[in-house]
Amino acid sequence: LLSRQEKRESNARAYPRHLPIAIADAAGSFVRDLDGNVFIDFLAGAGVLSLGHNHPELVEIARRQLGTLAHGLDFPTPVKDAFIEAQLSMLPLGMRERMKMHFCGPTGANAVDAAIKLCKTATGRSEIISFQGGFHGSSAAAMALTGLVEQKRPVANGMPGVHFFPYSYCSRCPVNLSPETCAINCIGYLENSLHDGNGGIPLPAAVIVEMVQGEGGVIPARLEFVQRLRQLTRQLEIPLIVDEVQTGCGRTGTWFAFEQYGIEPDVIVASKALSGIGTPVALIMYDASLDTWAPAAHTGTFRGNQLAFATGAEAVHIVQRDRVLDNVCERGEQVAGLLAPLESLPWVREIRGRGLMWGIELQDPSTGMPAGDLALSVQEQVLRLGLILETGGRNGCVVRMLPPLNVTADVIESACRILVNAIEALMP
Ligand code: PMP
Repeated sequence: LLSRQEKRESNARAYPRHLPIAIADAAGSFVRDLDGNVFIDFLAGAGVLSLGHNHPELVEIARRQLGTLAHGLDFPTPVKDAFIEAQLSMLPLGMRERMKMHFCGPTGANAVDAAIKLCKTATGRSEIISFQGGFHGSSAAAMALTGLVEQKRPVANGMPGVHFFPYSYCSRCPVNLSPETCAINCIGYLENSLHDGNGGIPLPAAVIVEMVQGEGGVIPARLEFVQRLRQLTRQLEIPLIVDEVQTGCGRTGTWFAFEQYGIEPDVIVASKALSGIGTPVALIMYDASLDTWAPAAHTGTFRGNQLAFATGAEAVHIVQRDRVLDNVCERGEQVAGLLAPLESLPWVREIRGRGLMWGIELQDPSTGMPAGDLALSVQEQVLRLGLILETGGRNGCVVRMLPPLNVTADVIESACRILVNAIEALMP
């Protein structure tokens, strides 16, 4: 099956290249391949399966909804209403009344595209500011905003007027300073460029940022970086778009990661885990003052996925009922403790995480260069031992973990043990 699909499918296939398994079925935090081997799945549909594979309550809801109404375009329906109310109820109190919602199609990139169009329409401006190392999707526009250069090099820049600025990647500081003394010079560079009437860039339509760069290698933004970015964008009346496609829906321990930074964005982009079980949906939530769109200004056939609305509303209920966000924080601390012994290894540059989003950055100690090959070997080795993990970051040098948010302590323990043993065994 693996080789047949390799022949039939495009070269662009991603995951099976380094995770050569064909999946038969799955449940909770586990998947089973066609040979009957069971794996702990800490890729979890690229962060989609927040409540694990096939959560029984969500399966039942999806089944029922399929027999009632599956596809609703953008007509009002009761399940859509329940979904919208559930999502808004998870926003900080002060934001609930002023945020509007727009459904954008099935994927995160669709929502990123919509956010950019909205801000361009509302401001009448055309430039966009994005950050080095960020990832926003594979559509032409979302890829143009993506600062991970390896991924976009072959397709060039799909959209003019995108400007990249340094992110607060302290472990590899873009301005060669150390966190103790840097005074967040990375954001200072953006400040100066925006204030510089002569050589600076024109006032942009938006700034788009991730609170934790996911594909970029699990890099949480510094608190002061985000707060000064919010201050600056407020002062200059630039809409701030926070891309919560990966960090959203509880992944970092709060419903949205921006809550941990004490800021309120103008636009939130969300997708992946919104439906809890992988039924596709993507949306933007934005301040009502930005709603300058004409009727039908941004459409799309697949923005009425009733299965996603039904499971998504129930997923919010389950997250609250089962105190899933508490589990994210507790299991996150457990991961930090279990991975800590790796910190002393010279090939481990840094271990970073928020909630249940973790990354181990590997380096060649003699050069300090990202050790992408070692990360790949770790990924292959843990797969042999029954654990599915992802890599990311510059040259793929970060081994990443995105477990389901309701994962148990036992499963975290087994997975971290496999990972620590694999890394220690592979030390050159
Ligand atoms: N933004 C971020 C932060 C993401 O991590 C991703 C997907 N990894 C996307 C956007 C794009 O989402 P999708 O692949 O669903 O288009």
